[in-house]
Amino acid sequence: LKEDPSFWMDHNVQVLIRVRPLNGMEKSMHGYNRCLKQESAQSITWIGQSETRFTFDHVACETVDQEMLFRMAGLPMVENCLSGYNSCMFAYGQTGSGKTYTMLGEIDDLEVKPSPHRGMTPRIFEFLFARIQAEEESRSDERLKYSCKCSFLEIYNEQITDLLDPSSTYLHLREDVKQGVYVENLSEFEVRTVSDILKLLTQGSVNRKVAATNMNKESSRSHSVFTCAIESRWEKDSTTNVRFARLNLVDLAGSERQKSSGAEGERLKEAANINKSLSTLGHVIMILVDVANGKPKHVPYRDSRLTFLLQDSLGGNSKTMIIANVSPSICCAAETLNTLKFAQRAK
Ligand code: ADP
Ligand code: MG
Repeated sequence: LKEDPSFWMDHNVQVLIRVRPLNGMEKSMHGYNRCLKQESAQSITWIGQSETRFTFDHVACETVDQEMLFRMAGLPMVENCLSGYNSCMFAYGQTGSGKTYTMLGEIDDLEVKPSPHRGMTPRIFEFLFARIQAEEESRSDERLKYSCKCSFLEIYNEQITDLLDPSSTYLHLREDVKQGVYVENLSEFEVRTVSDILKLLTQGSVNRKVAATNMNKESSRSHSVFTCAIESRWEKDSTTNVRFARLNLVDLAGSERQKSSGAEGERLKEAANINKSLSTLGHVIMILVDVANGKPKHVPYRDSRLTFLLQDSLGGNSKTMIIANVSPSICCAAETLNTLKFAQRAK
C-alpha cells in the first residue's frame, strides 16, 4: 500500500461521501427508488424534488467496501500521523446512515478471524503498528522507539464521560502551555498491538451502551472520540529527536434535526446542544478552510466541547478527513440532502 503524495497537497480538509447500500426495510417500503445518482469518483447528484449536483474529494458508492474505503481515507491518516501531523477523522450523518459501521464495523472476532466488515479504526491501527514495527526494525542501529497511548471518551449533552472508566463523568477540559487542551483525569492506556486496541474499543463500546441504557439516553445523541497519542524518539549519536502526533477518530451524534417541539427541560436542552455542537463543528471547519486560503479569521473552537477538545488537531498543519455517510433511499432524501449540504460547506 502506497500513498499518493499529492493527496493532502491542496488542502488540509478532505471530504468524502460514503453511500451505504439500501437496507431491507428501505427496499421493502420504497423499492429501489434512490435519491442519489453517482456521476464520477468525485461527484454525485441529489435527485429529489429538484436535481442538485455536488462535488467532493471522493464519492464512495454503495459497492465500495471497508478495504477500499480504508485505502481512500484511512491510509492517508496513518501517513500523516507518522509524519508528525495531528489528524482527525469524523463520521457524520443521520442515525442509521453507517457512521459506526464506517468507524468501527464488525470487531467481534477480530483476533480469531478478522471480519471483512471491520471498519476504519481497527484497520488504521493494523497498518500503523505494522509501519511502526517496520520502521523500528529498519533503524535498529539508530534506536527509534515509538510509544502509543489511547483514550476513549463520549460527549453527551456537552458533558464528557470517560468510556474506559465509566465512573468518571463530568470531566473538565483544561488548557495549558505544555499539554495544550486536555481532559483532566481521563484514563490513558499504552497500546502495542491491534489486540490492545480491540480491548479498548470493545470495552468503550459496551460502556457507551450501558451508560445510555442506565441513564435513559440515546447513544445516537452522543459523540465518541477515540484518541491515540503517538510519540517517536529517535536517538542518533548523542541527540534525541522527539516527534509527537495525535490521531482522533470521531463517531459523531446523529445529524438528523433534533426535534425541540414537544420536548421540555433536559430533552430540550439536549436537542439544542446536539444541533449546536454539530453546527459549530461545521462552522469551525468552514472558517479553517478560509484561514487556509489566506483569510485571517477568529476560529470559534470554544463554542462547543468537541471543537475545544480537538482544537490542537483542527487547523494549522493538522489534517482533517470528514466522511459524510448517507442513505441512497428516497425515504431519506431530505436528511441525505442536509448531509450533502453540510459536507459541501466544509469544502
Ligand atoms: P449509524 O452509526 O450512523 O447510526 P450504523 O453504522 O449503525 O449507523 O449502520 C446502520 C446499519 O446499516 C447497521 O446494521 C450497519 O451494519 C449497516 N451498514 C451501514 N453501512 C453499511 C455499509 N456500507 N455496508 C453494509 N452495511 C452497512
Ligand atoms: Mg452509530
